[in-house]
Formats: sequence, structure tokens, C-alpha cells
Amino acid sequence: MNKFLHDLRDCRQWTDEELTSQLHKTVARERDCLVDLLVRLGEFDRRSLSLTKGYPDLYEYCMRSLKYSRSGAARRIAAARAGRKYPSLLVMLASGELSLVGAAMLGPHLRPDNRRRLSRAVRGRTQEEVAQLIAAIAPQYAKRDSIRILSASNSAIEDRSSASAAISISPLVDAGVASPIDSAAPGGVVANPAHESKKRAVALYTASITITQETRDLLKRAQEVLRHQAPKGELDPILRMALELLLDKFDRDRRKPRAGRPSKRSQGRSSRHIPEAVKQEVWKRDGGQCTYVGEGGLRCSSRACMEFDHKKPFARGGRSDSPDNIRAMCRAHNQLLGRLEFGYPPGSSYG
Ligand SMILES: [Zn+2]
Repeated sequence: MNKFLHDLRDCRQWTDEELTSQLHKTVARERDCLVDLLVRLGEFDRRSLSLTKGYPDLYEYCMRSLKYSRSGAARRIAAARAGRKYPSLLVMLASGELSLVGAAMLGPHLRPDNRRRLSRAVRGRTQEEVAQLIAAIAPQYAKRDSIRILSASNSAIEDRSSASAAISISPLVDAGVASPIDSAAPGGVVANPAHESKKRAVALYTASITITQETRDLLKRAQEVLRHQAPKGELDPILRMALELLLDKFDRDRRKPRAGRPSKRSQGRSSRHIPEAVKQEVWKRDGGQCTYVGEGGLRCSSRACMEFDHKKPFARGGRSDSPDNIRAMCRAHNQLLGRLEFGYPPGSSYG
């Protein structure tokens, strides 16, 4: 019989004391397992093995290969990285003085000059208390941005791109003076354009974001300038317009092909600069997706933070004006190849 079925049967026979004792022993084993996991994950990260296996980053590896949820992956990665840098966190985790969530929250804020003080401050604290401590030292990080679905029609599952969103914006630190942004609707929630959602039959999302004073001022000004398009200062149409303009400028999938003669900068075989026409051809050929293929044959799925990479490095005589020598590559894999080819330090790209 399966061990777990044995356990299920046996634990019903235990006395209350035996059950309590077994429960505590199991929790201790679970903590040991967690620390073992974080140590291994930290070393896996240090070796960049998720990249060499064809994943765009460690988060994707944790979700797709290790089957963690997004938040589960994020917590373990943050704790593993912090534990690698400050092993005393792992000792606290193993003893139960700090939870995984606490370590993940605290990790990014630890520095050599504050680690002792903060470690002492969080020891034995609850998750909420650790969160309060983090909020006190780094208010800008205390509130996580989030987008969650509010309601969805059947068609919305197929067409998420046309979803409408309501965004609540309220000052996190400075109460300030009431503004159109703050007082757009009770609780700062902007009304959803119901007439549009009826026409399009889409999902609705609610988003909560933490923004700086500068962003708030820009939004406030956009509400004033775009009063014709958004009479009540609704943020959804304003954000949609801003994002359309932004993506028209930066998203190669949306850019119109530019014709014309190559610029002087791109002429000649000796230039490192990749001509725009070559970029367009390569982007189309590679589908705007990273072309790195990992050891097991897995092609990287990333379409974010994309760069153009010389297959034969420019420094070794590779051409910039031939699409055959250029490929689309995410920054992480471009950097990985740079480290393998030239021994560049982490964080630098090469082409
Ligand atoms: Zn990649």
C-alpha cells in the first residue's frame, strides 16, 4: 500500500499527544526541507541554469518546470537569493523564527549595514508584523501592483485584449489635497464604461498600482487635457490611449515598416550598427521571440526585453548588415551568450 495511505490509516489510531507530537515533528521536517530547497534553488540561480535550459528566467522555470504558482515561485526565489547572500536568514527559517513569506519580503531590503538590526527586528514576528516593518523602511515597496479579474463573459476568455479596467489610486504616504484622481468616485475607484463593455462583451479587471508623485501629476494633467475623451476623468480610456501611443513607438509588432535608403551610420560592413531594414526582417523571421534554444531543445518563450544578437560576434568579424548573422534574443540570453563567449560580467549585453 502507498506510504501516504498507511499514514492516513495510522494517524487515526494515535492518541492526541502522539498526533500533536507528530505534527510538530513534521513541521520541523518541512522547515528543513524548505531550507534545503532554498539552498539548491539559490545555487541553481547562481549558475544561471534556468537560462541554459532555455527558460527566459528563474520565475518561468519555477512555474513551468517545478510547477509552482507565480506567487509561490516569487517567494521562494526572493528567499533563496536573500539566503545566498545572508545565510543567517536560512538559520532563522529553519528554526521557525522567520516564515518563507517574511524572508521573501525582507530579503530585497537587506544590506550589509542593516541586516543585523532588521534580522533582530523580524525574529519571531508574524507575517503582518514583518509587512509593517517593511512598510516603515520602504513605503514605496509595501504595496504591490496587482491586476485581478472582476468579471468575465465567455468571450472575454478568448479576447482579453479588449478588457476594461478600473484603477484605484490613493496616496500611500502623503494624504495630500483631494484631486480629480483621488475623488473620481467613492474610494477613488473610477466608474467602468459599461456601455463599452456591453458592446464588446469583455472582462473587467480591477487594478491596484503604487505610483510616485510624478506619475500622479502626469495622470492628473492627462485627465485635464483629455476631458473630451474621458469627461469624468476615467482612467481606463486615458491609460489605453497612453499605452497605444507607447506601444506604437516601442513595440516592433505594431511599428509600420520604414522604407527608404539606409542611413550613413548603417552603411558598410564595418559598422556594429544593425540597419533598421535588417532588424525588421529578422524580427519578422523570428516572430519577435527569443531564438535561444536550451540544452533539451526548448526554445525560450520570451518576447520581452528583446535585443538583436550577432550570431558570429561583431568583435570576431560577424556582419551587422546580413539578416543571416542577426537573430532576436532576450536580454537575459544575450547576456548569457556574452558571458560564455567573452566572459562578460553579469548585467552586460553584447551584440
Ligand atoms: Zn531568451
